[in-house]
Amino acid sequence: MSKQIHHWVAGRLVEGTSGRSSAVYDPATGEKTGSVALADQREVDEAVSTARAAAQDWARSSLSQRAAVMFNFREILHARQDELAMVITAEHGKVLSDAAGEVARGLENVEFATGVPHLVKGSYSEQVSTGVDTYSLRQPLGVVAGITPFNFPVMVPLWMCANAIACGNAFVLKPSEKDPSASLLLAEMWKEAGLPDGVFTVLQGDKVAVDALLAHDDIAAVSFVGSTPIAKSIYETATAAGKRVQALGGAKNHMVVLPDADVDLAADAAVSAGYGAAGERCMAISVVVAVGGIGDRLVDAIASRLPKLRVGPGSSPDTDMGPLITAEHRDRVAGYIDRGSESGATVVVDGRHGELPTSGFFLGATLLDHVEADASVYADEIFGPVLSVVRRDTFGEALELINSNPYANGTAIFTRDGGAARRFQNEVEVGMVGINVAIPVPVAYYSFGGWKASLFGDSHMYGPEGINFYTRGKVVTSRWPDPATSVVDLGFPQTR
Ligand code: NAD
Repeated sequence: MSKQIHHWVAGRLVEGTSGRSSAVYDPATGEKTGSVALADQREVDEAVSTARAAAQDWARSSLSQRAAVMFNFREILHARQDELAMVITAEHGKVLSDAAGEVARGLENVEFATGVPHLVKGSYSEQVSTGVDTYSLRQPLGVVAGITPFNFPVMVPLWMCANAIACGNAFVLKPSEKDPSASLLLAEMWKEAGLPDGVFTVLQGDKVAVDALLAHDDIAAVSFVGSTPIAKSIYETATAAGKRVQALGGAKNHMVVLPDADVDLAADAAVSAGYGAAGERCMAISVVVAVGGIGDRLVDAIASRLPKLRVGPGSSPDTDMGPLITAEHRDRVAGYIDRGSESGATVVVDGRHGELPTSGFFLGATLLDHVEADASVYADEIFGPVLSVVRRDTFGEALELINSNPYANGTAIFTRDGGAARRFQNEVEVGMVGINVAIPVPVAYYSFGGWKASLFGDSHMYGPEGINFYTRGKVVTSRWPDPATSVVDLGFPQTR
């Protein structure tokens, strides 16, 4: 029987009243497993007004109280990580080990946020003028919203809510309607951790809920992660409404392999970064740039690994790659194989063939070689298990290819040459760079974000920039006359 997936408002599950809902599937079987409520304007208004009231008290809570909640939440999340991973796999499809990895990377952000008393410390300058001191404070914004994508239903919400809540804000999460259940488990855990009701809210929904949040006067800031067209539109709409916005978009991540690289190391990295989570990662490698004479050896090494990738349900321990999120998305991704071939690319491995489960939204790993930069398979964000190899003669040409691409989320270089790696990190116009590391997702005490069409706004997600994003700076300049001049004799010495 399919389950009803509700909102979470004022510390409890709340049934949707809009009359609208959306089907949720198990991508490994293709069966509908649930129906998620889609919030309307009225439900958004009610939830935000509860969050607003909660935010006022929470902003006044002590730093040690907030840190204690974060520590409790960390322990609960850690203890229930397997349960959370199973919920992710059931609706997203990724393999359980990958879902557990997602929870672990989210947990890092909670651990970072336990340090909130230190993170929001201001500075103090004594005696900037006679009897005058100046000091800075960081204060919460009020109610902030997070709108998140389907591909990381736990990690991305944790990128946002851990810091937002630790900084004293109330957080309203609008998860992806494709895999909404994990958000409710997070809500339960926050409650169990002692977070006051109303500080964490889940509003399930689609564009209707998002539009209502963006227009709401009581939403002070919006964090968004998703595709580039939606990121751009959210940034434009919400900044026009006077909100603080960070909107992370799509990606087309290149991995450059120089002629001196260790081919096996590079091929292993390309396979895991290209096909992990069926390529549905914003930091997935989707283009390998083979430089100089390494192309044939590299393509052979990648191709030889693909028959060993076992495609199947993410819940099975024998599976290396799970299904895609929906049947439509699987068909769209598969369409790029013919489009690649029509544009002149060589289809080295065709993921439509080979052993695939008969039900569910599966597609095998696909490898295309000799892809040209003007082909749609190169230009578009495919977001599936299709890896393109582009050949370039020199390091300079590889760099130019990357720097000409509108997306600029992550990139990597594989080489044994420190000088080349150093030049790459300096000259590449991309937000996150890996050197012999294919997926350079920063640890939680740095911040995450791309450049160009991969980020709208000037603030990266989580880490120190997350703390800045979720707080407003205030600077106080105070003058107190010297007590020696006081009319009341306090017994101070006349001179210092
Ligand atoms: P998406 O843009 O379709 O949806 C993201 C969120 O926006 C969801 O909550 C969705 O309900 C909402 N939404 C969708 N259409 C909307 C509309 N017209 N108006 C308002 N809200 C709307 O993205 P997705 O398919 O869920 O996720 C995959 C995309 O996210 C990929 O492009 C991927 O690269 C990107 N992504 C980027 C990062 C990053 O850090 N840059 C991380 C993860 C995913």
